[in-house]
Amino acid sequence: MSLEIANLNKTYKNGVRALENVSLSAGSGMLGLLGPNGAGKSTLMRTIATLQQPDSGNIFFDGIDVLSQPLQLRRMLGYLPQSFGVYPRMSAENMLNYFALLKGIAERRDRKRLIAEVLEITHLADVRKDWVENFSGGMKQRFGIAQVLLNRPRLLIVDEPTAGLDPAERNRFLNVLREVSVKNTILFSTHIVEDVKDLCNEMAILVGGRILQQLAPSEAIAAIQGKIWVKNTDRQSLPQMEKNHQILSSRFNPDDSVSVRVFATEIPGPDFRNDMPQLEDVYFLALQRGKA
Ligand code: ADP
Repeated sequence: MSLEIANLNKTYKNGVRALENVSLSAGSGMLGLLGPNGAGKSTLMRTIATLQQPDSGNIFFDGIDVLSQPLQLRRMLGYLPQSFGVYPRMSAENMLNYFALLKGIAERRDRKRLIAEVLEITHLADVRKDWVENFSGGMKQRFGIAQVLLNRPRLLIVDEPTAGLDPAERNRFLNVLREVSVKNTILFSTHIVEDVKDLCNEMAILVGGRILQQLAPSEAIAAIQGKIWVKNTDRQSLPQMEKNHQILSSRFNPDDSVSVRVFATEIPGPDFRNDMPQLEDVYFLALQRGKA
Protein backbone atom coordinates (compact mmCIF):
# COMPACT_ATOMS: atom_id res chain seq x y z
CA MET A 1 0.00 0.00 0.00
CA SER A 2 1.53 3.30 -0.95
CA LEU A 3 0.63 6.85 -1.77
CA GLU A 4 2.99 8.68 -4.12
CA ILE A 5 2.55 12.35 -4.84
CA ALA A 6 4.84 14.06 -7.32
CA ASN A 7 5.25 17.72 -8.22
CA LEU A 8 1.74 18.93 -7.49
CA ASN A 9 1.05 22.54 -8.35
CA LYS A 10 -2.05 24.60 -7.77
CA THR A 11 -2.62 28.31 -8.24
CA TYR A 12 -6.11 29.58 -7.47
CA LYS A 13 -7.84 32.06 -9.79
CA ASN A 14 -7.08 34.88 -7.34
CA GLY A 15 -3.37 34.23 -7.88
CA VAL A 16 -2.68 32.41 -4.60
CA ARG A 17 -0.14 29.69 -5.20
CA ALA A 18 -1.48 27.10 -2.77
CA LEU A 19 0.76 24.18 -3.82
CA GLU A 20 4.25 24.48 -5.19
CA ASN A 21 5.92 21.32 -6.46
CA VAL A 22 4.58 19.22 -3.63
CA SER A 23 5.99 15.70 -3.50
CA LEU A 24 5.22 13.21 -0.75
CA SER A 25 5.11 9.50 -0.17
CA ALA A 26 3.39 7.39 2.45
CA GLY A 27 3.13 3.70 3.17
CA SER A 28 0.76 2.16 5.68
CA GLY A 29 0.59 3.98 8.98
CA MET A 30 0.09 7.61 9.65
CA LEU A 31 1.61 10.53 7.80
CA GLY A 32 1.15 13.81 9.64
CA LEU A 33 0.97 16.91 7.51
CA LEU A 34 2.00 19.74 9.77
CA GLY A 35 1.64 23.37 8.80
CA PRO A 36 0.24 26.72 9.88
CA ASN A 37 -3.10 28.08 8.69
CA GLY A 38 -3.02 28.89 5.01
CA ALA A 39 -0.12 26.51 4.30
CA GLY A 40 -2.11 24.59 1.70
CA LYS A 41 -3.04 21.54 3.76
CA SER A 42 -6.73 21.50 2.83
CA THR A 43 -5.92 22.16 -0.81
CA LEU A 44 -3.58 19.17 -0.83
CA MET A 45 -6.07 16.94 0.94
CA ARG A 46 -9.00 17.91 -1.27
CA THR A 47 -6.80 17.28 -4.30
CA ILE A 48 -5.83 13.79 -3.13
CA ALA A 49 -9.48 13.13 -2.30
CA THR A 50 -10.28 13.95 -5.96
CA LEU A 51 -12.51 16.89 -4.99
CA GLN A 52 -10.41 19.37 -6.93
CA GLN A 53 -7.86 19.26 -9.72
CA PRO A 54 -4.26 20.44 -9.52
CA ASP A 55 -2.73 22.44 -12.37
CA SER A 56 -0.01 19.81 -12.78
CA GLY A 57 1.54 16.82 -11.05
CA ASN A 58 0.73 13.20 -10.32
CA ILE A 59 -0.88 11.19 -7.56
CA PHE A 60 -0.73 7.42 -7.38
CA PHE A 61 -2.27 5.17 -4.78
CA ASP A 62 -1.60 1.46 -5.08
CA GLY A 63 -1.10 1.66 -8.80
CA ILE A 64 -4.17 3.82 -9.38
CA ASP A 65 -3.54 7.03 -11.26
CA VAL A 66 -5.72 9.12 -8.98
CA LEU A 67 -6.10 12.16 -11.23
CA SER A 68 -7.22 10.20 -14.26
CA GLN A 69 -9.12 7.47 -12.39
CA PRO A 70 -10.85 9.35 -9.55
CA LEU A 71 -13.73 6.90 -9.27
CA GLN A 72 -11.36 4.05 -8.63
CA LEU A 73 -9.72 5.91 -5.79
CA ARG A 74 -13.05 6.91 -4.27
CA ARG A 75 -13.92 3.25 -3.85
CA MET A 76 -11.09 2.89 -1.38
CA LEU A 77 -11.06 6.38 0.06
CA GLY A 78 -12.35 7.75 3.32
CA TYR A 79 -12.29 11.54 3.56
CA LEU A 80 -13.13 13.44 6.71
CA PRO A 81 -13.29 17.15 5.92
CA GLN A 82 -12.73 19.89 8.47
CA SER A 83 -16.37 20.25 9.35
CA PHE A 84 -19.27 18.29 8.12
CA GLY A 85 -22.21 20.46 8.91
CA VAL A 86 -25.33 19.80 10.91
CA TYR A 87 -26.90 16.52 11.81
CA PRO A 88 -30.50 15.45 11.55
CA ARG A 89 -32.19 14.32 14.74
CA MET A 90 -31.32 10.70 14.34
CA SER A 91 -29.45 8.12 16.38
CA ALA A 92 -25.88 7.23 15.46
CA GLU A 93 -26.99 3.74 14.52
CA ASN A 94 -29.82 4.91 12.28
CA MET A 95 -27.61 7.42 10.54
CA LEU A 96 -24.99 4.78 9.83
CA ASN A 97 -27.71 2.50 8.55
CA TYR A 98 -28.88 5.24 6.22
CA PHE A 99 -25.34 5.82 4.89
CA ALA A 100 -24.81 2.09 4.45
CA LEU A 101 -28.02 1.93 2.42
CA LEU A 102 -26.79 4.80 0.26
CA LYS A 103 -23.60 2.86 -0.34
CA GLY A 104 -25.73 0.09 -1.74
CA ILE A 105 -25.41 -2.47 1.05
CA ALA A 106 -28.79 -4.03 0.45
CA GLU A 107 -28.85 -6.86 3.00
CA ARG A 108 -30.00 -5.76 6.43
CA ARG A 109 -27.81 -8.38 8.06
CA ASP A 110 -24.69 -7.13 6.27
CA ARG A 111 -25.45 -3.56 7.30
CA LYS A 112 -25.93 -4.58 10.92
CA ARG A 113 -22.63 -6.42 11.02
CA LEU A 114 -20.72 -3.57 9.41
CA ILE A 115 -22.33 -0.92 11.63
CA ALA A 116 -21.58 -2.92 14.78
CA GLU A 117 -17.98 -3.18 13.62
CA VAL A 118 -17.45 0.52 12.93
CA LEU A 119 -19.17 1.51 16.20
CA GLU A 120 -16.86 -0.85 18.03
CA ILE A 121 -13.69 0.54 16.44
CA THR A 122 -14.71 4.12 17.19
CA HIS A 123 -15.84 3.28 20.76
CA LEU A 124 -19.35 4.51 20.13
CA ALA A 125 -21.24 1.26 20.66
CA ASP A 126 -22.58 2.42 24.04
CA VAL A 127 -24.09 5.58 22.61
CA ARG A 128 -25.36 4.13 19.34
CA LYS A 129 -28.99 4.96 20.26
CA ASP A 130 -28.19 8.61 21.04
CA TRP A 131 -28.65 11.47 18.61
CA VAL A 132 -25.41 12.48 16.93
CA GLU A 133 -26.60 16.08 17.24
CA ASN A 134 -26.09 15.81 21.00
CA PHE A 135 -22.62 14.25 20.82
CA SER A 136 -19.58 16.14 22.10
CA GLY A 137 -17.05 17.44 19.58
CA GLY A 138 -14.81 14.43 20.05
CA MET A 139 -17.69 11.98 19.69
CA LYS A 140 -18.78 13.73 16.50
CA GLN A 141 -15.27 13.37 15.12
CA ARG A 142 -15.25 9.67 16.01
CA PHE A 143 -18.68 9.36 14.40
CA GLY A 144 -17.18 10.95 11.28
CA ILE A 145 -14.57 8.22 11.27
CA ALA A 146 -17.24 5.54 11.80
CA GLN A 147 -19.11 6.92 8.81
CA VAL A 148 -15.96 6.93 6.70
CA LEU A 149 -15.10 3.37 7.75
CA LEU A 150 -18.36 2.07 6.23
CA ASN A 151 -16.50 2.34 2.95
CA ARG A 152 -13.76 0.01 4.24
CA PRO A 153 -11.23 2.58 3.03
CA ARG A 154 -7.56 1.79 2.51
CA LEU A 155 -6.65 5.46 2.31
CA LEU A 156 -8.01 7.82 4.94
CA ILE A 157 -7.69 11.55 4.72
CA VAL A 158 -8.51 13.54 7.83
CA ASP A 159 -8.28 17.30 7.71
CA GLU A 160 -7.44 18.96 11.06
CA PRO A 161 -9.57 16.55 13.04
CA THR A 162 -8.35 17.57 16.49
CA ALA A 163 -9.21 21.27 16.17
CA GLY A 164 -11.45 22.23 19.06
CA LEU A 165 -11.20 18.95 20.97
CA ASP A 166 -10.37 18.98 24.66
CA PRO A 167 -7.32 16.91 25.70
CA ALA A 168 -9.29 13.83 26.77
CA GLU A 169 -11.40 13.81 23.62
CA ARG A 170 -8.33 14.39 21.52
CA ASN A 171 -6.63 11.41 23.12
CA ARG A 172 -9.54 9.08 22.47
CA PHE A 173 -9.83 10.30 18.92
CA LEU A 174 -6.12 9.81 18.23
CA ASN A 175 -6.34 6.30 19.68
CA VAL A 176 -9.06 5.46 17.21
CA LEU A 177 -6.92 6.72 14.35
CA ARG A 178 -3.95 4.78 15.68
CA GLU A 179 -6.00 1.59 15.56
CA VAL A 180 -7.24 2.23 12.05
CA SER A 181 -3.75 3.12 10.79
CA VAL A 182 -2.35 -0.33 11.49
CA LYS A 183 -3.82 -1.69 8.28
CA ASN A 184 -4.32 1.49 6.28
CA THR A 185 -2.68 4.66 5.10
CA ILE A 186 -3.83 7.74 6.97
CA LEU A 187 -2.99 11.24 5.92
CA PHE A 188 -3.63 13.55 8.78
CA SER A 189 -3.32 17.33 8.72
CA THR A 190 -2.80 19.50 11.75
CA HIS A 191 -1.20 22.69 12.99
CA ILE A 192 -0.63 21.07 16.39
CA VAL A 193 2.87 19.67 16.81
CA GLU A 194 1.73 17.38 19.63
CA ASP A 195 -0.65 15.51 17.30
CA VAL A 196 2.25 14.50 15.11
CA LYS A 197 4.54 13.67 18.00
CA ASP A 198 1.99 11.38 19.61
CA LEU A 199 0.83 9.61 16.56
CA CYS A 200 2.66 9.72 13.27
CA ASN A 201 5.45 7.50 12.03
CA GLU A 202 6.08 10.00 9.26
CA MET A 203 5.76 13.75 9.14
CA ALA A 204 5.81 16.36 6.44
CA ILE A 205 5.99 20.08 7.11
CA LEU A 206 4.06 22.23 4.65
CA VAL A 207 4.60 26.00 4.64
CA GLY A 208 3.44 28.44 1.98
CA GLY A 209 2.48 25.60 -0.35
CA ARG A 210 5.87 23.92 -0.16
CA ILE A 211 6.98 20.75 1.60
CA LEU A 212 9.96 21.71 3.70
CA GLN A 213 10.72 18.35 5.17
CA GLN A 214 9.49 14.78 5.12
CA LEU A 215 10.98 12.67 7.87
CA ALA A 216 10.01 10.45 10.75
CA PRO A 217 9.55 12.72 13.81
CA SER A 218 12.33 10.86 15.64
CA GLU A 219 14.77 11.36 12.73
CA ALA A 220 13.86 15.03 12.49
CA ILE A 221 14.62 15.44 16.19
CA ALA A 222 17.87 13.48 15.91
CA ALA A 223 18.99 15.76 13.08
CA ILE A 224 19.15 18.78 15.41
CA GLN A 225 20.59 16.95 18.40
CA GLY A 226 23.22 19.10 20.11
CA LYS A 227 22.07 22.28 18.36
CA ILE A 228 19.39 23.49 20.74
CA TRP A 229 20.53 25.92 23.42
CA VAL A 230 18.62 27.47 26.27
CA LYS A 231 19.28 30.60 28.27
CA ASN A 232 17.34 32.55 30.86
CA THR A 233 17.41 36.24 30.26
CA ASP A 234 15.35 39.32 31.06
CA ARG A 235 12.74 41.01 28.90
CA GLN A 236 14.94 43.97 28.07
CA SER A 237 17.68 41.78 26.59
CA LEU A 238 15.29 39.99 24.25
CA PRO A 239 15.45 42.39 21.27
CA GLN A 240 19.25 42.29 21.32
CA MET A 241 19.24 38.50 21.54
CA GLU A 242 16.90 38.32 18.56
CA LYS A 243 19.48 40.26 16.55
CA ASN A 244 22.38 38.03 17.56
CA HIS A 245 20.81 34.58 17.63
CA GLN A 246 18.40 32.36 15.80
CA ILE A 247 15.68 32.18 18.44
CA LEU A 248 13.19 29.36 17.91
CA SER A 249 10.89 30.15 20.80
CA SER A 250 10.79 32.06 24.04
CA ARG A 251 8.71 31.56 27.14
CA PHE A 252 8.04 34.04 29.89
CA ASN A 253 8.57 32.70 33.40
CA PRO A 254 6.51 33.68 36.46
CA ASP A 255 9.47 35.73 37.81
CA ASP A 256 9.38 37.81 34.59
CA SER A 257 12.53 36.26 33.17
CA VAL A 258 12.43 34.70 29.71
CA SER A 259 13.64 31.25 28.67
CA VAL A 260 14.96 31.46 25.16
CA ARG A 261 15.58 28.48 22.86
CA VAL A 262 18.22 29.11 20.26
CA PHE A 263 19.35 27.06 17.27
CA ALA A 264 23.13 27.06 16.77
CA THR A 265 25.73 24.52 15.70
CA GLU A 266 28.03 25.62 18.54
CA ILE A 267 27.46 27.15 21.95
CA PRO A 268 26.12 30.61 21.08
CA GLY A 269 27.50 32.47 24.10
CA PRO A 270 28.03 32.40 27.86
CA ASP A 271 25.28 31.02 30.11
CA PHE A 272 23.74 28.88 27.40
CA ARG A 273 23.09 25.24 28.17
CA ASN A 274 22.48 22.51 25.64
CA ASP A 275 18.98 21.02 25.74
CA MET A 276 17.25 17.97 24.29
CA PRO A 277 15.63 18.92 20.97
CA GLN A 278 11.85 18.72 20.76
CA LEU A 279 9.56 18.34 17.77
CA GLU A 280 8.48 21.96 18.35
CA ASP A 281 12.08 23.00 17.65
CA VAL A 282 12.01 21.08 14.36
CA TYR A 283 8.76 22.80 13.41
CA PHE A 284 9.80 26.33 14.36
CA LEU A 285 13.10 25.89 12.56
CA ALA A 286 11.28 24.71 9.44
CA LEU A 287 8.89 27.68 9.65
CA GLN A 288 11.82 30.08 9.84
CA ARG A 289 13.57 28.41 6.94
CA GLY A 290 10.29 28.48 5.00
CA LYS A 291 10.04 32.24 5.40
CA ALA A 292 13.69 32.87 4.51
P1 ADP B 1 -4.65 25.27 5.11
O1 ADP B 1 -5.60 24.12 5.01
O2 ADP B 1 -3.25 24.84 5.40
O3 ADP B 1 -5.12 26.32 6.07
P2 ADP B 1 -5.63 26.02 2.46
O4 ADP B 1 -5.33 24.93 1.51
O5 ADP B 1 -7.02 26.12 2.99
O6 ADP B 1 -4.57 25.98 3.67
O7 ADP B 1 -5.27 27.42 1.78
C1 ADP B 1 -4.01 27.65 1.16
C2 ADP B 1 -4.05 29.03 0.52
O8 ADP B 1 -4.94 29.04 -0.58
C3 ADP B 1 -4.54 30.13 1.45
O9 ADP B 1 -3.84 31.32 1.16
C4 ADP B 1 -6.01 30.26 1.09
O10 ADP B 1 -6.47 31.56 1.36
C5 ADP B 1 -5.99 29.98 -0.40
N1 ADP B 1 -7.25 29.33 -0.87
C6 ADP B 1 -7.79 28.19 -0.42
N2 ADP B 1 -8.91 27.87 -1.11
C7 ADP B 1 -9.06 28.84 -2.04
C8 ADP B 1 -10.02 29.08 -3.09
N3 ADP B 1 -11.03 28.25 -3.31
N4 ADP B 1 -9.84 30.18 -3.85
C9 ADP B 1 -8.81 31.02 -3.64
N5 ADP B 1 -7.87 30.87 -2.69
C10 ADP B 1 -7.99 29.79 -1.90
